[in-house]
Amino acid sequence: KKVADRYLKREVLGEGTYGVVYKAIDTKTGQTVAIKKIRLGKQKEGVNFTALREIKLLKELKDSNIIELIDAFPHKGNLHLVFEFMETDLEAVIRDRNIFLSPADIKSYIQMTLKGLAFCHKKWVLHRDMKPNNLLIGSNGQLKLADFGLARIFGSPDRRFTHQVFARWYRAPELLFGTKQYAAGVDVWAAACIFAELLLRRPFLQGTSDIDQLGKIFAAFGTTTPSQWPDIIYLPDYVEYQYVPAPPLRSLFPMASDDALDLLSKMFTYDPKARITTQQALEHRYFSSPPLPTDPAKLPRPT
Ligand code: ADP
Repeated sequence: KKVADRYLKREVLGEGTYGVVYKAIDTKTGQTVAIKKIRLGKQKEGVNFTALREIKLLKELKDSNIIELIDAFPHKGNLHLVFEFMETDLEAVIRDRNIFLSPADIKSYIQMTLKGLAFCHKKWVLHRDMKPNNLLIGSNGQLKLADFGLARIFGSPDRRFTHQVFARWYRAPELLFGTKQYAAGVDVWAAACIFAELLLRRPFLQGTSDIDQLGKIFAAFGTTTPSQWPDIIYLPDYVEYQYVPAPPLRSLFPMASDDALDLLSKMFTYDPKARITTQQALEHRYFSSPPLPTDPAKLPRPT
């Protein structure tokens, strides 16, 4: 069945937050694509502003580590977003017990993640929903950031951010303390969680509630203090808590190199203003010291 006279619908790929995602063939180019069908209609104004925001952002974000939005059109009361088709995602790679990830492979995956993020941050756009299943992997091994549905240009005058957008395990401490004015650092924290997950092959900080998530963070890095993070006392949900000492980071990541641990600790800095930026992270010696990142085409992927 053809959609908009151009796309041949194939099977359903999955169900997302906004609707069904189909595989399709673009008859104009012969290319395989993924079409995200977003339900409209029930909206009061007749338009889904979240979707419109996603379109506008994606159209401005063109980079080899960002998923490409090929087309966008309304059809039968639904908004259709056409993306380049991606074979798999990082979550599938991490979960696949048949895949061995070498230190060079991990370096390659995290470098592509940071490159995509650095590109967004340079354009003043936050991703805001970084997690392994939003990092899609193409047939050439390239990793691309997907799902900008929750992203929003930051610094917009009177819009305060809502803080419940992240998958909990990847949520930065300032979000858990209820910050309403967060910045690029939230993506860096999430990228650090993904880095840790690549090293451990399981999610690093698996909180069962927001409070428990903070508890997991404290258990890993020790409790933080206002001397370490001066602005913490101004955060809406800040409460004083019992002191917890930090175990050596090395004890949590016995297999990681010294360079990997150094970068990881800088990404896991409590104070978002002191946290390393994506650009600084890419310039860290972890990426220039051996082993060099694996060529994306040679990365192991699920079969
Ligand atoms: P969510 O909103 O839950 O993050 P999405 O709407 O992004 O989910 O995606 C729903 C499903 O469609 C996922 O299982 C994902 O694997 C698949 N999918 C999304 N985008 C693509 C794409 N570009 N190529 C291939 N599969 C995709």
